[in-house]
Amino acid sequence: MRIIIFILLVLSACKPTPKQYDIIFTNGTIVDGLGNDAFVGDLAIKGDKIVKVSTEKINPDQADTVVDIRGKIVSPGFIDSHAHIQTTIHQYPQPENFLRQGITTICASLHSGDQPYPIDKYAVSLKVAPNVAFFSGLNWTRKKVMGLENRPATKEELDSMKYYVEQSMEQGALGFSVGQIYVPGLYSSTEEIIALQKWPQSTMAFTLRTCAMKEVDCYLLFAKLFELQRKQRCPRKLITSKQREWRSLD
Ligand SMILES: [Zn+2]
Repeated sequence: MRIIIFILLVLSACKPTPKQYDIIFTNGTIVDGLGNDAFVGDLAIKGDKIVKVSTEKINPDQADTVVDIRGKIVSPGFIDSHAHIQTTIHQYPQPENFLRQGITTICASLHSGDQPYPIDKYAVSLKVAPNVAFFSGLNWTRKKVMGLENRPATKEELDSMKYYVEQSMEQGALGFSVGQIYVPGLYSSTEEIIALQKWPQSTMAFTLRTCAMKEVDCYLLFAKLFELQRKQRCPRKLITSKQREWRSLD
């Protein structure tokens, strides 16, 4: 019996103790995303988490795998705030065109084309590598209520559009997205857009394209949107492509 116990003790003593880290990346140029200058250092990973970032050398004996990444940059994932993944991202669980650029969060801008609806149901069903965020889109909303009609919305139609936008926001949309060079968003008046994007939310963002607008309309829309933005204290993303529109920003 004593011999058996002794053998068991010897066997347990031989069992390797687990290492502190799974992987160490050494000699990388680290950009931490906090606004600090880049620095050369090491980074340790355990499971699916970065557990240590250091300007000091991390002892390589503490990990199963050590990768020398001298000359390479390590940074947090990038956010693509304007992507046309629309309603098809579920077909690409590993969207390499994004991942290979270091993009780990994709925002479906939805200023054109269709949006998923309900957004929350679609988002929960996704099994894709990057994070994905959605907006409520003017073009989808107007088409849903009015088809491709080129005329002002009636009060009932406007109320119906408001309902869909509000529902989309409730379902987790980041904000309201407008693309005014696309049909049918092209037919929306400034008043209609303003009416559709009024929320007392501080997290609202906004994407806008105004290439097809007259300068005076453009100025009016910008002025009203910026006034709302100030009141709501919300971030807003503005995309324009013509010089005269930038002049309007003054
Ligand atoms: Zn776009």
